[in-house]
Amino acid sequence: MAGLHKKTVENFDVAGKRVLVRCDFNVPMEDGQIADDKRIRESLKTIRYLTEHQARVILCSHLGRPKGEADPKYSMAPVAERLSQLLGQPVALAADVVGPDAQRLAGQLQDGQVMLLENVRFEPGETKNDPELARRMASLAQLYINDAFGTAHRAHASTAGVADYLPSGCGYLIQKEIEIMGGALENPKRPFVAILGGAKVSDKIGVIQHLLEKVDTLIIGGGMGYTFLKAKGWEVGRSLCEMDKLELAAQIMEDAAGRGVRLMLPQDTVVADDFAADANTKVVPSNEIPADWEGLDIGPETVKAYAACIAGAGTVVWNGPMGKCEWEAFAGGTRGVAQAMAESSAITIVGGGDSAAAVEQMGFADRITHISTGGGASLEFLEGKELPGIACLDDQAE
Ligand code: ADP
Ligand code: MG
Repeated sequence: MAGLHKKTVENFDVAGKRVLVRCDFNVPMEDGQIADDKRIRESLKTIRYLTEHQARVILCSHLGRPKGEADPKYSMAPVAERLSQLLGQPVALAADVVGPDAQRLAGQLQDGQVMLLENVRFEPGETKNDPELARRMASLAQLYINDAFGTAHRAHASTAGVADYLPSGCGYLIQKEIEIMGGALENPKRPFVAILGGAKVSDKIGVIQHLLEKVDTLIIGGGMGYTFLKAKGWEVGRSLCEMDKLELAAQIMEDAAGRGVRLMLPQDTVVADDFAADANTKVVPSNEIPADWEGLDIGPETVKAYAACIAGAGTVVWNGPMGKCEWEAFAGGTRGVAQAMAESSAITIVGGGDSAAAVEQMGFADRITHISTGGGASLEFLEGKELPGIACLDDQAE
């Protein structure tokens, strides 16, 4: 599996060395204040390991979407301040990314001290993975550590390019993603169950096809389920349905049968007479969806069947909500699956922006083995794609 054998921060002698660490400090901001510092808190383990081992730590990240030029609105200043509070030591903020101020501060760093570069996306070369920018970033340090899983699927200067010029490894956050998600895909405890939902089949084709080769059971829910029901020849009313993916859905069902993978589809559905939070609703068997109603959640019988399967699993990987879970009337399926995962003794993994948010918001996060921290990156990981931000790191010696 891509990345299982990458060097980690513990594989280097970091004492007295300047270490450039790419973090994910892309925190939600409200009126210039950090609305949620979870990502900053999660980065502390790697930073503390480095300071405790007398490294000179140079942190960097992007924040928001500045357009390749300095924009005070996206300054890392609030992040430097919060970091300094959490670490209990000063965190100097450079006024630039690779300019004179960054060079001066990096040169003055003492063992165990921490500084932060300004928003890497103030540099137009960042998202273009400009080799000159990568070289200049690398010249600030002697070692590169990537700990930003959320951007590991992007080949940018600070997420990948810089590794061309420095010895490199991953921090604890990426290490955990690789070990738990990579481990589950490479050598799952069986039965291995994948649960796939979300709005559209077309978003998840890669994940479905990759997981189909690995799992014992594939559970389908969410908006994309109706394309499968339609492909079976059932009417789905006004439910989300991708007419141009019917053949693909049929092919997936055939492949599953050919491989001996059990494919579970919703046997009942919560339908609504309008696409609205306060629509009228009823539960119908999935082959009796009325023509002018639309399916917005899996039904209670389906939840029971899926929960039983999850209870008996060895490994469960889940991506994509089971319904329009932002609306309480259609959150039952997602909540039922999240609860079954929390109660299961299986290794449970949630990967995907909206599904991870739902599990956290519903209060099950602390009973899930691993909630992946990167929406797009988790999806590409589950597709079996090589992530540039991980592929670029040094391999462990054999
Ligand atoms: P993830 O971010 O976990 O990968 P997706 O982005 O693929 O998940 O899908 C999440 C979105 O799908 C949510 O906004 C959810 O409301 C929507 N969704 C799920 N089921 C349905 C449905 N039956 N009809 C319409 N939207 C749905
Ligand atoms: Mg999403």
